[in-house]
Amino acid sequence: MFNLNDFPLPFRESDLVPYMSIDTVRLHHGKHLATYIANLNKLIAGTRYADMDLREIIVNSAGDDVAQKIFNNAAQVFNHEFFFNCLGRGNTAIPDIISDAFGGASEFKEKFKSVAGEVFGSGWVWMTYDNDKFEIFATKNADTPIAHGKTPILTLDLWEHAYYLDFQNRRSDFVDTFLDYLIDWKFVIDNLNM
Ligand code: MN
Repeated sequence: MFNLNDFPLPFRESDLVPYMSIDTVRLHHGKHLATYIANLNKLIAGTRYADMDLREIIVNSAGDDVAQKIFNNAAQVFNHEFFFNCLGRGNTAIPDIISDAFGGASEFKEKFKSVAGEVFGSGWVWMTYDNDKFEIFATKNADTPIAHGKTPILTLDLWEHAYYLDFQNRRSDFVDTFLDYLIDWKFVIDNLNM
């Protein structure tokens, strides 16, 4: 059984204002993530997934048509915890290792924005780091890099619920705001495990 308390926000609801509203944080964490957790608990009860940890559920259900609902809800729980951990107001300057890898801070932002701009419908933008290489790409719906053996270090939720209260249809403004004001780069760098 998973519990919302196992996935606490790493900041206070008011910490991201004015870049992300209290209402958005509260709805996103307290309702959307909570619903994925509740659905996952119902779906895995009495199955071989019941005693697995979250990553095991994701890896084992990936590509299994029968377990698609389990995969979707488990991946969304992982993706959301990861996303909330990417947010903060204390460490928003792009680290040299990132700007160097992309040929500059603005080049990094342009690459991220261009990948985000190609997302049609619901999905996620990721930066991963594997074999000394940074990659930026999108996944559709609940899909997640850990189902493909990749190591996520940064993600942006591009489902409408992530931004609609604050930005309505202006999704690219949400992407800009995320890149300029909302990333906790300390969390990103801690994920490098170098
Ligand atoms: Mn979301």
